[in-house]
Amino acid sequence: MIRDRALQTRQKLVDRLPVTGEVLRGSLLERVVRHRSGCPKCSRGEGHQVFVLTVSYAGGRTRQFSVRRERVAEVRRWLGNYQKLKEAIEAICELNHDLLRPDAAAPKGGRKKRD
Ligand SMILES: [Zn+2]
Repeated sequence: MIRDRALQTRQKLVDRLPVTGEVLRGSLLERVVRHRSGCPKCSRGEGHQVFVLTVSYAGGRTRQFSVRRERVAEVRRWLGNYQKLKEAIEAICELNHDLLRPDAAAPKGGRKKRD
């Protein structure tokens, strides 16, 4: 039955949910900061590479957090965890749309023909 199959698929998705507290929402941006004067590195045109985590909120508000270089790999991993978790939740929601259909919800176990 379609409903049973949908429930089985949903359970598989739930079992595979990458549940972890190590999640972050946002984007990690790489920027170059250049000092106007007094910095030999910047006067050579190199500048300083910095990483910024940008998080946007409803209403267009955003927050920015500077991320130390040594934590960049970790932040990327946490952002990836969030995306995986989000994708898994979205897939489950899509499946639940199927379960909301009147046909799938019928608990009778098949349709009976009326004569
Ligand atoms: Zn500089």
